[in-house]
Amino acid sequence: MTPALSTWSRNIAPSPTLAVDAKAKALKAAGKDVCGFGAGEPDFDTPQFVKDACAKALAEGQTKYAPTPGIPALRKAIAESYAARGFAGVTEANVVVSPGGKMSCYLAILATVSPGDEVVIPAPFWVSYPEMVKLAGGTPRVIAAEDTTGFKVTPDQLRAALTPRTRMVVLNSPSNPTGAVYTRAELEALVRLCVEAGVWILSDEIYEHLVYDGQTTCSPATFSPEAARLTITVSGYAKTYSMTGWRLGTLVAEKSLAAAVGDLQSQISSNATTFAQFGALAVHQHPDKAKAALAEMQVAFDRRRLMLWEGLNAIPGLSCYRSQGAFYLFPNIRAFGLSSADFAARLLEEELVAVVPGSAFGSEGYIRLSYATSDEVIRKGLERLARFCGKLSA
Ligand SMILES: *Cc1c(COP(=O)(O)O)cnc(C)c1O
Repeated sequence: MTPALSTWSRNIAPSPTLAVDAKAKALKAAGKDVCGFGAGEPDFDTPQFVKDACAKALAEGQTKYAPTPGIPALRKAIAESYAARGFAGVTEANVVVSPGGKMSCYLAILATVSPGDEVVIPAPFWVSYPEMVKLAGGTPRVIAAEDTTGFKVTPDQLRAALTPRTRMVVLNSPSNPTGAVYTRAELEALVRLCVEAGVWILSDEIYEHLVYDGQTTCSPATFSPEAARLTITVSGYAKTYSMTGWRLGTLVAEKSLAAAVGDLQSQISSNATTFAQFGALAVHQHPDKAKAALAEMQVAFDRRRLMLWEGLNAIPGLSCYRSQGAFYLFPNIRAFGLSSADFAARLLEEELVAVVPGSAFGSEGYIRLSYATSDEVIRKGLERLARFCGKLSA
């Protein structure tokens, strides 16, 4: 007889976005002409100067364990870049480099959430937040936003969700899956409530450099000394520099919390891959090259965003909020009367178009499309989507 699996593995839902991506890739490998809008990663290659720096480190023998929270030069460079952006008094002691921004988020939650604690998560949410909270023994408390409010939660919603058990509030702007970007004033109102309640703020800023329409981003940790003490800022290189496979994430927090995160990491994964960290260091050492690489992607993403947004809104029955960040659009499909899972499954089966159902992100009635794909795929995908929606309405 096989012994039972743990509560943890029985309770966790595997990542639905990775599942859609895997299914689309399998169909493609079988020779099918799939239009993939499922992927949550840029379609560009990692900039050459970053790869060169990593290759050089590898050739020079940077292949051993490094200090758990990261190689000193990288932690120092990260601290300096945050300090220059208004993070008062941040030094390398506030910084932990982890194997991926996903790991940074999980460690932040493990370091702050105990069994029975509640974590407020605005929906539509990134698929991993609720599962990570559950793995820490905590309880996710979801507050939902719709396209009518630009997918942003209000201070009233947050106030109503805070209880004596609340330990943390998750903020993710620009957002995956909606692309929504909170304004400074909107974030300040939410952060003020968190400060009053004395709860941690997990600010996942992984898409901080991908904004359009002249939109800007800001960090809760820069709002006030109280906000700085309570905010755990997560970011990384994956989305900004097309480095998803490198598995490098960054976390900035108050010193004792950063130390706790480092202690957890020392038992769970040890350091992020040593030579990969030298690649990331090159981003800080060559700001002009980094800026040029980023600018090229920003221009392409913005063009595709507008092309996809206009195309979606031209399809009768679909309506799509004009999101200003990340590389996702989150159109409303309620007019078709299908669940988002059925819509996505039939769309893949009948038209070979891969999208992720909104239900995966805690929001029924929507689908997520990533425009981190070629103009050609967007054009073809829109034609197929229009035909599919036409069939549904007929
Ligand atoms: C992609 C992503 C991350 C982290 O990505 P890594 O590849 O683990 O660095 C974190 N948060 C959100 C919302 C993301 O979309």
